[in-house]
Amino acid sequence: MTGRTNIEWCDYSWNPVTGCSKVSEGCRNCYAEALSHRFGRSFEVTLHPERLTATRKWKPGRIFVNSMSDLFHENIPFEFITEVMHEMDRNKQHTYLILTKRPERMVEYFGEAYYDCTLPSHVWFGASIENRRWTGRAATLVWMRLFAAHIFLSLEPLLESLAPFDWLCDNVPDWIITGGESGPHFRQADAQWFKEIRDFCTAHDIPFFFKQPGGLRPGGRALLDGQEWRQSPPAWKGFVGGSE
Ligand code: SF4
Repeated sequence: MTGRTNIEWCDYSWNPVTGCSKVSEGCRNCYAEALSHRFGRSFEVTLHPERLTATRKWKPGRIFVNSMSDLFHENIPFEFITEVMHEMDRNKQHTYLILTKRPERMVEYFGEAYYDCTLPSHVWFGASIENRRWTGRAATLVWMRLFAAHIFLSLEPLLESLAPFDWLCDNVPDWIITGGESGPHFRQADAQWFKEIRDFCTAHDIPFFFKQPGGLRPGGRALLDGQEWRQSPPAWKGFVGGSE
């Protein structure tokens, strides 16, 4: 859970916090919760200060921060988030990716200046959106443009069509990832929903990463119209998943 990962769009996961609670429909079959229970562990929010320095020893890579939690969960004190931020600031050899379903707390944290440095450009801030009900998270994320160099969206598990994309306004993200839901209780996605996102990204010059279509045990190459879509931001060329 901390170290090398099979998650297609990054190289490592780093979990200075584990555990979370459900906030919206995308959480119903939470992978992190299922994995915790499989190992007989609690899914209560738990801080792991002993893991704060873990990424110092790793080769430079893309690090998914808190794959087993949500860094902006209401039970994680701002003081601890600051420790995580300082650790990322110290390790500029990496690219850190923070993904939240609680962008309003992320914006609150930075808006209230709990973090006392200029935000480092090697830290990317993302919001996760699964259906139209939660597209407002993108508008909240846009506030991070005031503080951060890069923002991104994870549209996964995609539960319905998100077109038209008027909810993205004019302030489009720097990267979009999408995929369907997997596992025994997966909710079937329609390939058309992914194609709509791909076409929007192509039209707006946004790198587009299609992770997988979903299903019981998705495997093999994830294709849309016979083609893989594993684009990543230009600065990462050749790093994530053999991207274009
Ligand atoms: S926010 Fe993420 S980690 Fe937390 S319950 Fe939902 S899916 Fe799981």
